[in-house]
Order: sequence, then structure tokens, then C-alpha cells
Amino acid sequence: MSKSYVVVAEVRDGKLRQVTLEALQAVSLVKEDSDCVTAVILGHQITDIAEQLSQYLNGQVYVYDHIDLKTYNAEIHFTIIKDVLNTLNPHAIYLGHTAVGRELAPMIAAYLEAGQLSDVISIEKSGAEILYTRPLYAGKAFEIKKFTDAPQVVTIRPNNIAAADTVELHAQIISMAFTQASSLRSVVQDVIRKTSGKVDLTEAKIVVSGGRGVKSIDGFKPLQELADVLNGAVGASRGACDAGYCEYALQIGQTGKVVTPEIYIACGISGAIQHLAGMSQSRIIIAINKDPEAPIFKLADYGIVGDLFVVVPLLTEEFKKA
Ligand code: FAD
Repeated sequence: MSKSYVVVAEVRDGKLRQVTLEALQAVSLVKEDSDCVTAVILGHQITDIAEQLSQYLNGQVYVYDHIDLKTYNAEIHFTIIKDVLNTLNPHAIYLGHTAVGRELAPMIAAYLEAGQLSDVISIEKSGAEILYTRPLYAGKAFEIKKFTDAPQVVTIRPNNIAAADTVELHAQIISMAFTQASSLRSVVQDVIRKTSGKVDLTEAKIVVSGGRGVKSIDGFKPLQELADVLNGAVGASRGACDAGYCEYALQIGQTGKVVTPEIYIACGISGAIQHLAGMSQSRIIIAINKDPEAPIFKLADYGIVGDLFVVVPLLTEEFKKA
């Protein structure tokens, strides 16, 4: 019998989040040809985004487009997703391991009395078994798990599974009715976003991170310039945040964000274990530090011993030429 898979899509700043395409790819790794995939997208004025999403799956896209869905609200989103679950009775639900996915996934799992695997970084088929790998102890160990039952709830860590490619036969777009909830226990009054730039830190392919070595708020400027040239995002160590050089929204590490970009450039960061917890899975790590003994060099693929205020502008100039 064919199974039903649901992917909860995410929209941010009028754009489809990359992790949604990664979640679709994750589903394509586990599903059979006869299985049905439904992506659910919620937001306001999202016709174009739904159209874009439909190009990445051969199935259906449920579109909930309403002014009340402009801002994410767990209560409203979950009410809608519950309806979808009741209609489709899915075998599995996939979400990004994002702030939204981390909130909705356990609600869905509890509602369905389903098993949940969070923060999955790779999926492998071994005979009839599907094995999910997820990091433990801040990336010091990995756990390989499998489901023994359904329904299943999975969250996918951004930037680990390749994004789905477009497909020839696009998904059918289905406009869904949204009925405004009569009473809500909480409403979003306002959203105050604190970010460094245009690129989302957790989804950036390149992250330029600054530590206490940047020495001031202005010290982050050359890092921002390098990030802009590379179309990357700026991150920071807690040392830099604690010193007041940048917002805590930029903090990467055990008590900050987890990033897994293709390139991570650590500038003036010593490499404390708590920082490594948030970036050690990056594909290529480049460290710039004036202390040749800095622990970050043990993890780095490439190390530059030098003053970041000399090295970073030089890199920016070189990349501008490229
Ligand atoms: P430092 O350790 O002071 O290193 C600064 C580096 O800059 C040095 O290596 C120095 O050689 C170099 N430097 C100085 N000037 C220059 C220059 N001009 N050019 C080049 N290099 C230069 N930390 C995190 O990052 N993220 C977390 O999530 C986190 N969570 C924590 C949770 C707990 C419970 C605890 C106890 C700690 C946590 N920390 C976290 C803090 C962590 O232990 C370190 O204190 C912190 O990461 C240090 O930040 P840093 O590397 O920027 O500063």
C-alpha cells in the first residue's frame, strides 16, 4: 500500500527556506515511487512561493494563504497541520530543524503519539532499513537510529542533506481554506528581528565569525564586508557577544546557534569546546588567529596565523577580484 509523506514548508522574508528543499530531498531518500508526498505551506501572499515549491516535488502542495498566517504562530500553524494530518493520515512528517520545526515537531509527535527523530544530518537505506544519523554531545559523537513504528516525525538539520532538484512533473497546487481561530491563547504582537545581514546565519553557505579578537563593535565591519563579498553571513563567539561587540543573535555554539556551512571562517576565535559545538560540522574550517597555539587550529582545515585586521581585508580584496 502506498504511504503518505508530509513536508512542512517554511517561508521567511518572502522566500522559501532552503531547509524545506532539504526536507523534500530527505523524503525522496526514504519513500517508494508509489508513495505520495504533500508539502504544506502557510503564509500570506505566497502564491509565487507555492508555485516555486511545486517545482520540487511530484505530489501536491497544500497552500494556506491568509493575512493571519503572515507571522508564525505555533497555535494557529499547529491547528492547520492537525487538519492536514487528519486528512492524510501520513506515514511520516518531515520538518526543518529550525526554530519553527523544533516547536512544531514535538507537538505533532505528541498529537499522533508518534516517534520523533530530531536534528537528522544524514539518511541511509540499508536493505529494508532506513537509518538516520544525528549528532550527540555537541558533535562529539553520532547516533544512528531507526524507527520501529509509524507515524514518524523527523526534523532535518539545515545544510546537511543536499536540496531537492526540480522535477519534471510539478506538484498539484491546492488552495486550502483557512478558518480564523475564534479564540487564541496567545497572539504575536510584534517580531523584532536581530540579524547581521541579508543571509540567514543557519542557512548560509559561508559564515564569517568573529571572536573576542575583533576587539570592538567596529571590529566586526571588515568581517561583514568579507561576508557580503562571499554572500555569506556573520556569526560570533560568545566571547564577542559577552563583550558587547555584537548581538547574541549571532552567537554560535553550545548555547547559541548550530551552523554547518560549506565554509566557516573563524576570526579571532580561540576555539573553546562550547564554540566548536556549534560549528565543528562545517565542511571547511578556516581559522585566522594571531596565536599559533590557539586550539581552533587543531580543528581547522586551513589556518592563517596573523592579525585578522590585516588578513580579512586582504581576503575581501582578493575575493572582490574573483
Ligand atoms: P577568547 O577565548 O578570548 O579568544 C580570542 C582569540 O582571539 C584568541 O585566540 C586570540 O589569540 C585571538 N586574537 C586576538 N586578537 C587577534 C587579532 N588581532 N587577530 C587574530 N586573532 C586575534 N562560547 C561560544 O562561542 N558559544 C557558545 O555557545 C558558548 N556557550 C558556553 C556555555 C557555557 C556553559 C560556558 C561555560 C561557556 C560557553 N561559551 C560559549 C564560552 C566559551 O567557553 C569561550 O569562553 C568563548 O567561546 C571564547 O570566545 P573567543 O574565542 O571569542 O574569545
